[in-house]
Amino acid sequence: MSSIHILSDRVANQIAAGEVIERPVAVVKELVENSLDAGATRIEVEFRNGGKSYIRIEDNGKGMSPDESLLCLERHATSKIREAADLNEVCSFGFRGEALPSIASVSKFTLRTRSKDWEHGTEILINGGKMIEKKDCGMPVGTVIEVAHLFNSVPARRKFLKTDPTETAHITYNCRLFAVAHPNVAFRVLENGRTVFQSPACENLRDRIAEIWGRNLADDLIPVDVSDPKTGFRLRGLTAKPGVGRSTRRELVTLVNRRPVDSRTLSLAVLDAYHGRIQKGRYPPAFLFLEIQQQEVDVNVHPAKREVRFRDDGAIRRFVLNAITETLAASRADDIGQAVTPIALATEAKIETPASPAAKVIGIEKPDITILPSPSAPICPQVTATTPTAAIRTAPQAVVSTPDVCSASAADKTTPGWHLIIVLKKRYALFDTPRGLVMLHLRHADQRVRFERISKEFKNDNATSQRLLIPHPIEFEPLASAALKSQLKQLNAQGFQVEEFGRNFYRIEAVPTWLSPEQAESFIRDLVDLIRQRGGMRKPSALDSDAIARLAVEGSYRRSDSLTDQAVEQLAKDLLSCDTPHTSPFGRPTFSEVSWNEWERRFGND
Ligand code: ADP
Ligand code: MG
Repeated sequence: MSSIHILSDRVANQIAAGEVIERPVAVVKELVENSLDAGATRIEVEFRNGGKSYIRIEDNGKGMSPDESLLCLERHATSKIREAADLNEVCSFGFRGEALPSIASVSKFTLRTRSKDWEHGTEILINGGKMIEKKDCGMPVGTVIEVAHLFNSVPARRKFLKTDPTETAHITYNCRLFAVAHPNVAFRVLENGRTVFQSPACENLRDRIAEIWGRNLADDLIPVDVSDPKTGFRLRGLTAKPGVGRSTRRELVTLVNRRPVDSRTLSLAVLDAYHGRIQKGRYPPAFLFLEIQQQEVDVNVHPAKREVRFRDDGAIRRFVLNAITETLAASRADDIGQAVTPIALATEAKIETPASPAAKVIGIEKPDITILPSPSAPICPQVTATTPTAAIRTAPQAVVSTPDVCSASAADKTTPGWHLIIVLKKRYALFDTPRGLVMLHLRHADQRVRFERISKEFKNDNATSQRLLIPHPIEFEPLASAALKSQLKQLNAQGFQVEEFGRNFYRIEAVPTWLSPEQAESFIRDLVDLIRQRGGMRKPSALDSDAIARLAVEGSYRRSDSLTDQAVEQLAKDLLSCDTPHTSPFGRPTFSEVSWNEWERRFGND
């Protein structure tokens, strides 16, 4: 007998099962995807013991005829593709025709299904890949699949499963993702007989998120809708208000053509956009739907299809970064927290500037995304107009953390309606605002205001300077002197007047008005250090002006200084008219709000 032989289907299925369904959540995913592919509008997921002992997925999709119900259990039986070339256009979730036979090969598997052309349904029982029974049954149109004793027949695999709570967490998380991805499908998820969550079909993404993840999170998000007509890329959904960060990236959800994916390209682009807008080490919650042509993405990278590969990674990254950056920049203080969409770039060609009133009017209506009618709906690149412009640069580095309930938001910029109640510990100022109580951090706020003022002066080359009564001499060691010399012209164009008057000797004759003369020497020394850290001889660029401004505000207001109430009120006003009011130039929060709603929640409504 030859030592090479063809594996039986049963063994081949068990091996494939190892790849396609490494754990219970994978079974749930495959089955829910099948239900979605079958056009279900109602899906129920039930499981016990982290899915190890029991999983049931029930749907009202199109179901299967008796013949199809047998065929679907054959290896590589699929109704979704015929040729490899079709892979370029797959719009369905499944296409390998592997899931059902694989699952059935490693469990006690029951399929009940009925299509609308049949009076009765078909019930098939399979145990460890062996067909036990097939009979007719009465049931409504749709499909019910039960998977019991997963991996019982494959002890080696069973050993790799995690504890019940861990497997449960994976299943519920993935069901939440499905529910977010498909707001038009009603979902119900039960664990050990208890409802984990349920949501009727609701087209509005914000409501859906509120049902599944809670109102608090939903209220912390602003709408995104940006398209690029050139590439046909479109990014829609909801993304964190500036200043709102979470300690894990679980709520940073990215979907490509409505398929939840893990993509470094996408999550890094999002994180980049929030650079300086949330504290370092925290993650913005976001639910972002990227719509691109099917040919732009390869979903056939990973058997469980969770990872995707983009044809042009760089283009996707730039697009997403710009889209979020623009949305955040447009949202600024005056829009935040008022359910006003920051900018509806995607809607009309004429809406081009964030400040355009038209953008706001559009946003006041339910700004949330409308979902494509079906996963297979084509993407229409011609819907849109504005091309994302260059990303707005923001300050890096963030340190402290704020409680998530107190997300930053702000009132109208021109009439802030912020009334100072009291200054506390020489450090904070408490304001009564139309939306709630706001605690302002004086130093962070002052840094932000000064930073923007200074960097604007730099960018516009219109710094005003003040002459020192007596020029201040200053000596440097040779390398430092060379560094200063390389930047002297640029510096002197910015309100400084620093003259060289001998080898390594300089004289400070004037400084910009934002710098106090007593601080002139230490500031210039710090500046020289900075120039050296940054490579010194590099051509001065716009980035340097931000760095200089950041350096300048390090010596901002301190606790030892005292501000009059009037100055504190002015500070709040100035802050609200900043471009990036929510964080200091070092990424720390400038203020934190507890809304009146939140107070009501805390005390309970009588
Ligand atoms: P794939 O999804 O890759 O095609 P599966 O093994 O998951 O492979 O399913 C095989 C086939 O069984 C599908 O192509 C589909 O025709 C049918 N099928 C599976 N689940 C359902 C369901 N819930 N409702 C209707 N048809 C289904
Ligand atoms: Mg499938």
